[in-house]
Amino acid sequence: MSMINATRPPLSPKVEAFLARGDQKMLIGGEWTAALSHETFDTLDPATGAKLGGVARGGADDIDRAVAAARAAFDTGAWPAMLPQARAQLLWRIADLIEANIDELAELETLDQGKALYVGRWAEIPGAIAHFRYCSGLAQSIEGASINTSIGYQPPGKEMFAYTLKEPVGVVAAIVPWNSPLVLTVMKLAPALAAGCTIVLKPAEDTSLTAIRLLELIIEAGLPAGVVNLVTGLGSEAGAALAAHPLVDKVAFTGSTATGRAIIDAAKGNFKRVSLELGGKSPVIILPDADLDLAIPGAANAIFFNGGQVCIAGSRLYVHHSIRDKVIDGIAAYAAGIKLGHGLDQSTQMGPLVSAKHAAKVAEFVNDARGAGASISGGGETTGPNGSFIAPTVITDVRPDMRIVREEVFGPVLVVQSFDDVDAVIAEANDSEYGLAASVWTESLSNAHRLAKRVKAGTVWINSHAMYDPSLPIGGMKASGWGRDAGKGVVDNYLETKTVCAVV
Ligand code: NAD
Repeated sequence: MSMINATRPPLSPKVEAFLARGDQKMLIGGEWTAALSHETFDTLDPATGAKLGGVARGGADDIDRAVAAARAAFDTGAWPAMLPQARAQLLWRIADLIEANIDELAELETLDQGKALYVGRWAEIPGAIAHFRYCSGLAQSIEGASINTSIGYQPPGKEMFAYTLKEPVGVVAAIVPWNSPLVLTVMKLAPALAAGCTIVLKPAEDTSLTAIRLLELIIEAGLPAGVVNLVTGLGSEAGAALAAHPLVDKVAFTGSTATGRAIIDAAKGNFKRVSLELGGKSPVIILPDADLDLAIPGAANAIFFNGGQVCIAGSRLYVHHSIRDKVIDGIAAYAAGIKLGHGLDQSTQMGPLVSAKHAAKVAEFVNDARGAGASISGGGETTGPNGSFIAPTVITDVRPDMRIVREEVFGPVLVVQSFDDVDAVIAEANDSEYGLAASVWTESLSNAHRLAKRVKAGTVWINSHAMYDPSLPIGGMKASGWGRDAGKGVVDNYLETKTVCAVV
């Protein structure tokens, strides 16, 4: 079929032992448990299609008991009332344990998700550690405000005191996707824990393994039973039951825009608080004065990192017509040099996509573009022993109304368009239902900041793309979501404001 060597290198003894223990269980109220139905589903190595093991297929009845455990830990447990410094210490300890086990976690993540090992080992899991440490600090800086009111009708001789209290919102449903499972899970768990909430976590069905290992580390760190619970299972079963559960106070969701809409509907029953990190179709704009030694590899990495399975991937490239051919040739050459293989092979730069099913979906997008008259260079077709690889693909000769320009592909597929003037490119960049991220490449300070202001996106990078830090708010405008998942305001996603108004 192809020249890709997807053979799996030998596993470490720790990961061998993790897989050898049989069907993976869920964590409910501090106990590792099978699903009440005793059903499991298979999790696969996407590179080869080989079964890695069975995972508990949690159902609505398992969600009921996980929510009950989280409810009890919140309503009568020690966690919400714990001194902030004690909570902060526990969060820091979780970070230390992730760091001490980073090689095992990175290996498991690659095995389950497919990504090249370096992506997890050197970018995403260090990001997860940083996130826990950052939120450890936030746990100690939650504060309300004292308020000087102008209410004139308090009884004679009395005074008015008013202030706000910040209180944890309660039981949080954390529902996360498969593209960067560990770090995206931590981006929910760390701020929710900092706020004093309790949690039921539902990982994506394709990638449950690092969530299971993370929860073991969280228990080892000393979190009380029931504070974090894990139900593995399908979105249509466990996910839907969790999002609709009447005893859940808040849903923190990362995933597709379509599922985000279903979450909003499910949350209506008891008016759950909802934060949503959804899809994107992020523009990368290269102006004629850009430093192309930076911009060409930068634009290539913006789309090909993690096989393009990144919400903030720079999937729409707008390049000034005067440098168009040079940039396209440069990106195509960069793409052709990317080595595909099993993610655990140290020389691999891009692994398979998360599943053969997802790769087929990506290939279908490319086919549709071809049928609509676009030119395709590079991959665009499924390949490898399991049909799960797609080589980096560059698409030109497109029109703004094509599906490939408008919809999120979530694969290593770049769509290139050119422009003549800045006003035109801003209009085109903003002509999208999404508004997650963007990057601008230019040596002109004034153009850089003017464009940053005019592009409708939650984050705009200048001469870079996808720079991540827990101190930088990340999240989307328009159909890319509600709220921000990092930055010092992130704990507010998990807090209620109570106003206290006293006549004394
Ligand atoms: P998805 O929406 O299919 O699934 C996400 C999670 O939701 C999974 O755990 C799934 O089991 C669950 N789910 C599915 N149906 C559900 C339902 N009806 N009710 C409750 N839960 C349900 O998304 P995906 O394909 O796993 O992930 C890819 C998407 O995630 C892309 O659109 C990507 O852009 C987005 N994403 C966004 C960000 C961000 O920060 N904005 C980050 C990463 C990924």
